[in-house]
Amino acid sequence: MLKFLGRGSAFSDEHNSAYFVAGDDLVLLDCSMTSFMKLCNKNLAPYDRVYLLVTHTHGDHVSGIGLFIDLLEFSVKTPITVVAPSKEVEADIFYYLTRLEGCSSEWYDLTTADELDKEWFVKAVPTTHSDELAGRCFGYILKVDNHNVVYTGDTNTMLPFEKYLDNDTYLYMEISAYKSPVHLYCHDMTAKVREYTDKGVHVYLMHMDDEKRIAQVMKDTGAEMAPLDPGGTGMEDNGRMLRGIFDITNSLYKDMCMNDSKDHALLFSYLTELSKTIVNADRASFWKWDKRKGEIWTMSATGVDKIVIPDSTGLVGKALRLKRTVITNDPYNDPDFNKEIDIKTGYTTKSVLVLPVADINGDFIGALQLINKNNDYGFDDETDPKKLSLAALMCGIALESETFLEESHHDRLTGLKNRMGFYYDFGGKYKNYLIPDSGKTMSVFICDIDKFKRVNDTYGHNAGDDVLRFVSELVESSCSETDSVYRWGGEEFVMVMRDTDLERAVKKAEEIRVKLMDTDIEADGNTLRCTLSFGCSLFNPAKTIEENISAADEKLYTAKETGRNKVCS
Ligand code: GH3
Ligand code: MG
Ligand code: MG
Repeated sequence: MLKFLGRGSAFSDEHNSAYFVAGDDLVLLDCSMTSFMKLCNKNLAPYDRVYLLVTHTHGDHVSGIGLFIDLLEFSVKTPITVVAPSKEVEADIFYYLTRLEGCSSEWYDLTTADELDKEWFVKAVPTTHSDELAGRCFGYILKVDNHNVVYTGDTNTMLPFEKYLDNDTYLYMEISAYKSPVHLYCHDMTAKVREYTDKGVHVYLMHMDDEKRIAQVMKDTGAEMAPLDPGGTGMEDNGRMLRGIFDITNSLYKDMCMNDSKDHALLFSYLTELSKTIVNADRASFWKWDKRKGEIWTMSATGVDKIVIPDSTGLVGKALRLKRTVITNDPYNDPDFNKEIDIKTGYTTKSVLVLPVADINGDFIGALQLINKNNDYGFDDETDPKKLSLAALMCGIALESETFLEESHHDRLTGLKNRMGFYYDFGGKYKNYLIPDSGKTMSVFICDIDKFKRVNDTYGHNAGDDVLRFVSELVESSCSETDSVYRWGGEEFVMVMRDTDLERAVKKAEEIRVKLMDTDIEADGNTLRCTLSFGCSLFNPAKTIEENISAADEKLYTAKETGRNKVCS
């Protein structure tokens, strides 16, 4: 429910102050100086608005408010509403903030509990303290995560709160180890606290002037110490940012594990979206480094289309070259920044962070780029790379496995997909053509270079390779959008033609055959010609993939047997 930035009293080294997160609101109860010191180290940017519930104007409750307002106004840019429990306290706070703290009233909203309309707010409850503070001390009744919450503030009696203490109520109760007329004295309270816990109230002790002694006295009552904010992460734990992160990782998990879509781009788009959320940036992109081509290109980018650039340019290139994180919060004065994309898209880049990512051997293979952190000063060179580290690591592993999969599906010599790629496509783009009676038509041909062994024997293996590359390019250049060609084996190629009947498939094979027959091939310094034989068949979904290929292969055999350089179907 509530977390505590401090649960001590003015006599200990931490003052009492609590908070909770409700939707996009951060709600603080009091803001003492020790709490302010902690708050200024937290990420307050993700909240739409901060609400500060004041219990009364004692220095140990309000001493951090002025500075906190300054921080939100000048640095974080998050609006704050200061909520006073009554008109009198509102007047005190106004005097304190304007005349003592020197805060301009434009930097905050000041309102009273009566005027506050929030689903997490129930009411302010007057308590009793010293005569001097009569009518100026309050506790609060709240509704946090659908639970009734009672926060006593400073009081010397529990009476005003007792009617709110039902089973399952969360009671945050002040307690004191030193006897005074203005606080609840621990020795006097043990029986009451036991009574509360017995009826199912969750009792948390706060505002403790001597924790050890109180713990000792209260040890059998069922009460616990108010939970302290766990060093810097607690606030974000409940915050919008973490919820955003969990939403993305949850979708990522579901889409990747429970979905048979073979769309790897989805993975990268989730990871860039995740990175963007983690550091609160406007855009994120993930770049693959193609060392062979000397290019970097976007695997996934938010806000822009695919971009390909030489690896010697831009901040991504710089990060890959230097093998380290690159941050620029003044890109237009950075000679490595590539303004072209801004000029093309009309976007203004203000801050850039690039994290190079490596494969499992530690070789850099890509980079994660974040653009325009949503603040005035840009990326932090310590905290932001740290926050992005896991997403960057995952990008590296994902890219490596994607690259590995891609490579295993392709033939190095011709660049065509190989037999593994062929079978993989049957799980993907041909899936619907495997269903009998689906009404979908698909044709295949298998072709084989005639007397290819002779090429090798006559001109050498390098010439043979050149011929293979040439023939594969020629066959591929005949592919329409719905056709795909695979290197089936040595000098054999398979073409799969979706939405194509046998007649059209034969026509296409015939065109390729004639074209090759009439074309000179430059092969390792020799000029030669080659021919192809084809076996063509209509894909039969009632049969297996292997049976279908065999059917085409039988026709190819016929073509070879009956003279070569021909199409049989
Ligand atoms: P046919 O008309 O009956 O198909 O005769 P062929 O000579 O083409 O058939 P054969 O199966 O006897 O020979 C195929 C040759 O292709 C043998 C093999 O060395 C060669 N080959 C297979 N893969 C490659 C390759 O990657 N590069 C080169 N240069 N040659 C290859
Ligand atoms: Mg052959
Ligand atoms: Mg062969």
